[in-house]
Amino acid sequence: MIIIMKKGTTAKQADKVIEAVKASKLKPVPIVGTERTVIAIVGNERVLHKDSLSAMDGVEKVIEVLKPYKLASKEGKSQSKVRVGNVVFGGKEIIVIAGPCSVESEEQMLEIGMRVKKYGAKILRGGAFKPRTGPYDFQGLGEEGLKILAKVRKATGLPIVTEVMDPRYVGIVSKYSDILQIGTRNMQNYPLLKEVGKTMKPVLLKRGMWATYNELLLAAEYIMSSGNREVILCERGIRTFENYTRNTIDIAAVPALKELTHLPVIADPSHGTGRRSLVNPIAKAAVAAGADGLLLEVHTHPEKSVSDADQTISTEDFGKLMHELKDLSRAIGRTL
Ligand code: PEP
Ligand code: MN
Repeated sequence: MIIIMKKGTTAKQADKVIEAVKASKLKPVPIVGTERTVIAIVGNERVLHKDSLSAMDGVEKVIEVLKPYKLASKEGKSQSKVRVGNVVFGGKEIIVIAGPCSVESEEQMLEIGMRVKKYGAKILRGGAFKPRTGPYDFQGLGEEGLKILAKVRKATGLPIVTEVMDPRYVGIVSKYSDILQIGTRNMQNYPLLKEVGKTMKPVLLKRGMWATYNELLLAAEYIMSSGNREVILCERGIRTFENYTRNTIDIAAVPALKELTHLPVIADPSHGTGRRSLVNPIAKAAVAAGADGLLLEVHTHPEKSVSDADQTISTEDFGKLMHELKDLSRAIGRTL
């Protein structure tokens, strides 16, 4: 941390700041210039309260040197790999997660599961607890949906991912699911983040639709500092003034996050665009930008989906996209 004092600050004011730093057992190194004094701090600055230092007399600015997210930060760490059975996120292979928005029935999940597997999906998705905007919308099948997912995992051999919305349900969702999904609306639900942080299950953390990269990485830090280091980040679009698309997918988030963190980063072109016609080109854009995987909403009868029908692609279109992604992956030195 570096504390820049105002021009004309008295030695007494600087001394008070120096004492405050010493009180936190860190080493202040004052540099007295001709115009102003700068105090550099040696040690783990995260123990200091930036706001109280900024508020002290004579302080102009406090600059943090360390990232506030210690565990999620890339500094000094190599790319992490998150393993789900035989599937590895963060390696050379691009991992595709596919399936319907919601679990509707066993037949539906089984049929979709078989088809997406045939085309190369590595993980099956489906929501059992659905975060719907209105309380009268379909809320998901709940535990029955989890049981269906577990059955379909057995039949297809595909690991599953499903959302957990409530800290009280982390236990039950963990019992059935291979990956715990935290949805956009819950990215800053700190009790929920801490609860999934206490499990050993990999967590798919979706970016809040309002959240900065810093906030997303601090959300990941909540999970990691609770003990669970298996976190996969997902760019799923943010709210902007544009309303042709449901969200504005931030493709730059993929390489930007990869500069900031060692965690795997995937993209969700389905929620990111909200339009079926845009899923194929945006999936390719995300892969070209360096995504470690994709999350895609796929249904055998997209128009009949009980939720997110507009953005759901057919299994045939999924097959076509996977074929195109194979060529693209090869061109950028990755596999699919
Ligand atoms: C989902 O993936 O089913 C979902 C609800 O996504 P999001 O939280 O990004 O809206
Ligand atoms: Mn959905």
